[in-house]
Amino acid sequence: MKGAAMYRYRCVQCRTTSPPVLTQAALAQERQSHRALAHGGHVPDGEQIVTPPRFSFFDLPREQQVFGTLIVLVIVIGILVRAL
Ligand SMILES: [Zn+2]
Repeated sequence: MKGAAMYRYRCVQCRTTSPPVLTQAALAQERQSHRALAHGGHVPDGEQIVTPPRFSFFDLPREQQVFGTLIVLVIVIGILVRAL
C-alpha cells in the first residue's frame, strides 16, 4: 500500500473527525467546508490533521523481520556477485 496515505481532518472544538480521504486536496476541501459550515469561516483552535503512523520495520513480527532481512541479503549478494 505505497502512496495510499489516508488523511482525516479533526476539529477538537466540535470533537469530530472527518471520514478518511486519500489526497491532500480532498483534505483541504474537508477542512474548508468544516470551517465554513461549523465555524462560519473561522479557523477553530486546535484543529488537527490525522495521518496513520508510519510503517516501521520493527513493528513486523520476528519471523518476517528475519525473512525480510535474508531476502535483502540474498539480493545484495546476488548484485555483488554479478558486479565482481
Ligand atoms: Zn469544528
